[in-house]
Amino acid sequence: MKGIVFDLDDTLYNEKDFVYGGFQEVALYLSHKYVLDSTVLYQQMIDILYKQGRGKVFDIICEQYAFKEDISALVELYRRARPKLHLYEDAETFLRSNLGKYKLGLITDGLYYVQWNKIKLLGIEKYFDEMIVTDDYGKEFWKPSKAPYIEMSQRLELLFNEMVYIGDNPNKDFYAAKQLGILTIRIIREQGDFINIFLNEDYEADFIVRNLYEVEKFLK
Ligand SMILES: [Mg+2]
Repeated sequence: MKGIVFDLDDTLYNEKDFVYGGFQEVALYLSHKYVLDSTVLYQQMIDILYKQGRGKVFDIICEQYAFKEDISALVELYRRARPKLHLYEDAETFLRSNLGKYKLGLITDGLYYVQWNKIKLLGIEKYFDEMIVTDDYGKEFWKPSKAPYIEMSQRLELLFNEMVYIGDNPNKDFYAAKQLGILTIRIIREQGDFINIFLNEDYEADFIVRNLYEVEKFLK
């Protein structure tokens, strides 16, 4: 094994930290405009998130308070939020100790400016030989497309069987990688949107770990 390639959200850091940071930004904006307590608004957004999911949080809160807001402008505030983000401890340790030992890569889906924003907030550019934000190439380049994995193998100058891909989402992280012959490892952390989702073997990784310390044994 010569190259280790990672997913970003919920693999290397807790994506909720970004989501909450975005809520805080929007709560602050609304609290100033309507002279309300931002922590109350923020807490309500979190309640809505858990009860009704991520898709309609701003619509619902605006409806509850009869705010006349352009929802897409609130979404934009959320997306451009700059909360403090931290790698999971095992991720930081893993990247730090394998820097220079393996070629390290990142393949992440999501709106390009949001993903690059997260990368900068985490300060992780220093760890990676190559980073691919699939959205830079267009929607058809998003996982489970094979394209980003092929691009990564070319950029790292590695064969598929010299690479491992580590991610958390069985819907899209492993399917294409497996078809190409890349070893796949699924990380199931204590938190994450997909921790209870199990699919058929085409979509599931070759191995499952609970943290990145456990990955070392598969690299030998
Ligand atoms: Mg992920």
